[in-house]
Amino acid sequence: MGSSAPLPFEEPIFVTRPILPEMSRFLPMLEAIWKQRWLTNQGPLHAEFERALGGFLGVAHLSLVNNGTTGLMLACRGLELTGDVVTTPFTFPATPAALTWCGLTPRFADIDATTLTLDPEAVERALTPQTSAILAVHVYGQPCRVDALQALADRHGLRVLYDGAHAFGTRVAGRPLCEFGDASVLSFHSTKLFHTGEGGAVVAPERSLKERIELLRNFGIRDETTVALPGINGKLTELQAALGLANLELVEPERLARARIAHVYLERLRSLEGITCVEPPAGVSHSHQYFVIRVAASGAGISRDDLHERLKTFNVFTRRYFFPLCSD
Ligand SMILES: *Cc1c(COP(=O)(O)O)cnc(C)c1O
Repeated sequence: MGSSAPLPFEEPIFVTRPILPEMSRFLPMLEAIWKQRWLTNQGPLHAEFERALGGFLGVAHLSLVNNGTTGLMLACRGLELTGDVVTTPFTFPATPAALTWCGLTPRFADIDATTLTLDPEAVERALTPQTSAILAVHVYGQPCRVDALQALADRHGLRVLYDGAHAFGTRVAGRPLCEFGDASVLSFHSTKLFHTGEGGAVVAPERSLKERIELLRNFGIRDETTVALPGINGKLTELQAALGLANLELVEPERLARARIAHVYLERLRSLEGITCVEPPAGVSHSHQYFVIRVAASGAGISRDDLHERLKTFNVFTRRYFFPLCSD
């Protein structure tokens, strides 16, 4: 007797679902905000959240911002990048778009077939005399080849900026991944492992960069009588900071739950012909931002796009990441 056909899931399965605190945890925080009537401009919850987040991530200099895209732009300005920036086409459009918004020219270099992150050798080939930096992405939470990229940057006098939107809390051999390079940008969009609805942060190894980011984030206003430079509005509100503080308590249990699910997926999918799972490298506490498979139509007997459509009939809504490719 053959097994019966699999049934669709009763509830739709989406690529991600935001964590949320219990209302009973969140309401007293809202009441405190209402009482103070301090809604934005580096309020008390902003300060508390910035401290708590720095502690959680194990980094000394972190600046909250209103989203990851603004964070990337603030980091480009903060590092005074000019001309060309070599980046990956295999990312969310915000990565190259942030460069363009800063008047920089994205130069796409190819990725490594295994890690799916920027291939340092391809980066070297893409350099021009105008190149001032490398903007690499820890795509799907897979750490970039940080040592090779740094060596390359040192050889050519370049800055290294990381888009760490997928790599919240990721550690490599115990060290926070967001401490590598000249700056790292995190996104706290609702689709990310950790979120504040909308939000983000710039992690800067140097205190001077943190100070510059914070000036740029608040219109360039230094004090009551000095506007030091043309800034932007990159501020995170008290409401978002409250959500961040509450969600910070949930993020590690969520990450561990995802790790358990990823383990089951790996066990079941790893041996299927034509399916390659993108596995977290050893020694990395991974964000499990996404569970990623690659589909080779010849081996799997179904193309990626057909599988994407077919899974919808089972109430499973996958995404084709990254489609279309930024370089297209
Ligand atoms: C989500 C994301 C961003 C943008 O972050 P926002 O907070 O939505 O502006 C940038 N880069 C990557 C790789 C992302 O996944």
